[in-house]
Amino acid sequence: MGHSTHGKYSELYFSLASGSLLLIGFLLSFWSALPNSVSLVFYLGAYFFGGYYTSQEAYEGLVKGNFHIDFLMLLAAVGAALLGAWAEGALLLFLFSLGHALEHYALAKARNALSSLNELIPKTATLKEGDVNREVPIESLQKGDVILVRPNSRIPADGLVIQGSSQVNQAPITGESIPVDKFAIASSRKKGTDRWEEINEENRVFSGTINGSQTLEIEVTKTSKDSTLARMVALVQESQKQKSPTQRFTDRFERFFVPVVLVLVFGLNFVFVFSPETFQESFYRSMAVLVAASPCALAISTPSAVLSGVARAARTGILVKGGGPLEILGSVKAMAFDKTGTLTQGKAHLNEIIPLGKCNSSEILQMAMAAEAMSNHPLAKAIYKAGVEEFGEQNVIKADNLEDFVGLGVKATIDGDLVYLGNLNFFETLDQGKPSPDILQEMSLLEENGNTCLLLALKGDFLGILALSDSPRIEAKNTLDLLHLSGIEHMVMLSGDHQKVVDKIARQVGLDQAYGHLMPEDKVRHIQRLQKTYGRVAMVGDGVNDAAAMAHSAVGIAMGAAGNDVAMETADIALMGNRLDKLPFALALSRKTRTTIKQNLWISLGMVAVLVPLTLFDVAGIGPAVVMHEGSTLLVVANALRLLGFKNEVSD
Ligand code: ADP
Ligand code: MG
Repeated sequence: MGHSTHGKYSELYFSLASGSLLLIGFLLSFWSALPNSVSLVFYLGAYFFGGYYTSQEAYEGLVKGNFHIDFLMLLAAVGAALLGAWAEGALLLFLFSLGHALEHYALAKARNALSSLNELIPKTATLKEGDVNREVPIESLQKGDVILVRPNSRIPADGLVIQGSSQVNQAPITGESIPVDKFAIASSRKKGTDRWEEINEENRVFSGTINGSQTLEIEVTKTSKDSTLARMVALVQESQKQKSPTQRFTDRFERFFVPVVLVLVFGLNFVFVFSPETFQESFYRSMAVLVAASPCALAISTPSAVLSGVARAARTGILVKGGGPLEILGSVKAMAFDKTGTLTQGKAHLNEIIPLGKCNSSEILQMAMAAEAMSNHPLAKAIYKAGVEEFGEQNVIKADNLEDFVGLGVKATIDGDLVYLGNLNFFETLDQGKPSPDILQEMSLLEENGNTCLLLALKGDFLGILALSDSPRIEAKNTLDLLHLSGIEHMVMLSGDHQKVVDKIARQVGLDQAYGHLMPEDKVRHIQRLQKTYGRVAMVGDGVNDAAAMAHSAVGIAMGAAGNDVAMETADIALMGNRLDKLPFALALSRKTRTTIKQNLWISLGMVAVLVPLTLFDVAGIGPAVVMHEGSTLLVVANALRLLGFKNEVSD
């Protein structure tokens, strides 16, 4: 859309030129001393400026074999000219081009709300090389480079703080403008060993966010094109191509409707054959009907609403990938939530280690730590953290061949011996001895108290039980209550954890039902079952083990888009910065968008339904048809733009 061959506003200037020439010509036509041809010259000018962009677009459509609305409008204007109704034809082209110019302007405004995110990232960074500071373009930054961020300036790269502390406004990423404390990561860490997801919130910063009053030294962890903000913008822009259900419907409707209009209009030219009127009169009527029946407003009604809705969501830290999810979320009746990392904080704590005879708890922890060294799971991080606290990073035993089993545990070798660490399901899949009734009894007791239990086995011997727990997010209960109030009938928890732990968390956050012991494919099965009962179901999750379930649900919603890559890629909607509490707002915005789209369809189709009979029966001529037709287009766009300012009573 839009032609950038000229300046940003040239479409608008052309349109205004057309309007002015039309007005002058019209006024001159009352001066009887002048010959008519003087007015005609001005009308011709109005035709040129008013029809310039319209004919370009019509031509582009025709080349591709599409009859677009631009073509209908041009046809009507040419028809009016043939009738000698130059003023009405010029009015048509003027208003149509004005409508188009404003529409493009409005859409550009909504689109800018998105791409302006990109502009938040500074163009250059201050690279620190020994004692020298050098200004470099951000594209040249490499992982491991150290950059200096001055007070009150934007942070140019994703990275971790290695020197200084400050308060950072992370609104571009999370939508939350209250500054967050950031401070330097412990200096004992080995350079370049950290994985982005594992760095604590308080140590990592995002490009595009705004540094507070202190200087920060930052080690770059992501190159500029991989930065969280850059990827977020890329994902949204790509998803703009995904059309919403209504959009697909209106596209199909238009494709069938435009030819019908053309046939009807063609037929109307022959009314004079059957009735006592001239060809001129028949032709004039056919042109009026042509204007009345052109579904301009219809074509723009959904895209404008979708774009405004997506932009509004992005401003508050909700990434919506296109019109589909934006429209569908509001119609969801049931929601499924993953537990770990979604309803809970995903920051487990190692509460207890219970040795089972052969080793003491310190040895168990060292082995567990080694085996979990590469895993991304919250439990792995908790174990690793507990280990670092006890031994520091030096003492770690080294494990090899580390392997992750989603929803089960990890496998590794230590000094050539096989080590398994995971839940009971895991050991059922392995061909080694089963844990004794005593061990099971012990685990059961711990689970009753809300602990997630893992077993560590070396060479087929069970060495110890590790008991961990993870508390619910503070906002979880309130968020679920609000969702209930907004009419979500059924909410369940789907988790890979032990049923007892799952039940405890479910009680704490106020959930209807909770299912534990689920493998990724079981989560999919539950989603399918829920969809049979409730129609559309949304799945909220945070990790690899939720991806399949998210893909099978009507809307997949990811937590921690600011951290987890898999979730970000699979989801239809991502809640930046793990903000579960943004869900009620997302739901409300989706519903508002649906309402807006419906209103727009009524306005645009209603106008066609009213205008077509009026022009058919000669109540309205080309002039009034043009005015009402273009008026409805502008009304529809204005209605959509209201979404940019949408507020929700309960939260935003
Ligand atoms: P949820 O579905 O609640 O997010 P997960 O599917 O991520 O939970 O994990 C389910 C269970 O799988 C965990 O409770 C744990 O028993 C086991 N598990 C998964 N990953 C690991 C790991 N890296 N180390 C130990 N156990 C793991
Ligand atoms: Mg999870």
